Amino acid sequence: MHEFSFASNIVDVIMQNVIKNHVSKVISVLVEIGEFTMIIPDFLRHSYDIIKESHPELVNSHIIITSVPGKVQCEDCGTITEISFKKASSDSIDASLAMMNPSAFTCKKCHGSKTTIVGGRQALIKSMKVDE
Ligand SMILES: [Zn+2]
Repeated sequence: MHEFSFASNIVDVIMQNVIKNHVSKVISVLVEIGEFTMIIPDFLRHSYDIIKESHPELVNSHIIITSVPGKVQCEDCGTITEISFKKASSDSIDASLAMMNPSAFTCKKCHGSKTTIVGGRQALIKSMKVDE
């Protein structure tokens, strides 16, 4: 599962910091997810809650997830169009279908369909709140 492996990567990075900085308790972790990663925030939160149980430093922590919209750039006119799947509710199937069909992304200015993904594929740990 996509979200589960991503959550375990997050926990690995957090634990490296915990060990390095001698942190005894993590309070919260802020994660930013590009919408083109196709990570579903609820699944990610759930996966994190499962994985954190095996780390005493993380048991009482929670994950805060913010989504950033995907961005495509038009090959014809250079305009950058933001793509957000949030409007299509949490229906990830729609989003996955759109990813498999790049022509679903059209330029907002010239309506051209030759677009390149330029943003929204990243997933980053933005910050971490700890109790030392
Ligand atoms: Zn265009």
